[in-house]
Amino acid sequence: KKHFRIAVIPGDGIGKEVVNEGLRVVEHLADTSNKFSFESDYFPWGCQYYLDHGRMMAENGLEEIKNHDAIYFGAVGYPTVPDHISLWGLRIAICQGFDQWANIRPVEFLPGIQSKLNHPNKEDLNWILVRENTEGEYSGIGGRNFTGRGNRKEVAVQSSIFTEEGCERVIRHAFQLALKRKRKKVTSVTKSNAQQYGMVLWDEVFERVSKEYPEVETDQWLVDAMAAQFVLHPEELEVVVASNLLADILSDLGSALAGSLGIAASANLNPEGRFPSMFESVHGSAPDIAGKGIANPIGTIGSAALMLEHLGLPDEAKMINEAIRATTEDGVVTADIGGENTTKEVTDSIISHLSKMYTNV
Ligand code: NAD
Ligand code: MN
Repeated sequence: KKHFRIAVIPGDGIGKEVVNEGLRVVEHLADTSNKFSFESDYFPWGCQYYLDHGRMMAENGLEEIKNHDAIYFGAVGYPTVPDHISLWGLRIAICQGFDQWANIRPVEFLPGIQSKLNHPNKEDLNWILVRENTEGEYSGIGGRNFTGRGNRKEVAVQSSIFTEEGCERVIRHAFQLALKRKRKKVTSVTKSNAQQYGMVLWDEVFERVSKEYPEVETDQWLVDAMAAQFVLHPEELEVVVASNLLADILSDLGSALAGSLGIAASANLNPEGRFPSMFESVHGSAPDIAGKGIANPIGTIGSAALMLEHLGLPDEAKMINEAIRATTEDGVVTADIGGENTTKEVTDSIISHLSKMYTNV
């Protein structure tokens, strides 16, 4: 029997609410399957921690979690702390600190919910966005105040970093994922007409790597046209690989088209396994609905499925995803996807579908 140590970082706002729901699902699976057990270590990092201690995580925070088997993350951000401080101080600190260079964001069209996309075969749509997760536009390199603050002529510089190695590893990862899928297609997205250095390098690496995968169909798009393509011809997409910023934007678009930001799961992988990987929903802390018990837990529960898959439990991951689909098919859903159920009711329904699967075995 496998035993895992999970570092749990609920964070802020609805992050705290949905992480507990995900853990309830994993606990249920651990109890019923008898194939694994786990312990969770909680880390109270986030905006309240920042207000109390002047930092988003403990000073030696990365040390404290680097030997865990995985990190399960809620969301960060609260109106009392500037967003760039909360994001850089915790989520990006972990992604970059642990070299989690591949951010995998599946977009699933779940049965029975109101998708925003008017398409005849929505149930067949199934994309994976692969986001470069350690460099690009989120290099953190830049500066302000070049001509003096306060004179209304301030100049700020925000630099992107694209390394050949960084582009190559994430592009290759996308091809490897495509090999396991039905259509075997990778779409690369840049804005290399306007961004003539880093993104042209990306395009060149993509073309070079694609030659090693003759069985994979490829496509290269500019991001503005790709935003339209998501809406107009979603059936053309399978694996989509893009830089840190562009894939961030496209994944919110993709999940909204599928129904809601609240259903989108993600995995921040350090594929070499030198450091723990981190699993979190795509959405943020949603201060507008925090504390009301109505946040959609599906994205975070789906992220737990990605975590179990990563930990070598693909059957359990599949069961969670099936239970999610059975629940939306029943119409047990939160307001963001057209229902009236609470966060807890959705999780309860997912757990009860999981129980049925075990009695059927
Ligand atoms: P958001 O994702 O928090 O919310 C956008 C909209 O989607 C809101 O109307 C919200 O109510 C809704 N929504 C999001 N998740 C939902 C869910 N599970 N169920 C139902 N509705 C849901 O994005 P935002 O409003 O731009 O940002 C809020 C805060 O979150 C900011 O501080 C931002 O910096 C932070 N943020 C953090 C992360 C992260 O931790 N990974 C990601 C994005 C944003
Ligand atoms: Mn985002």
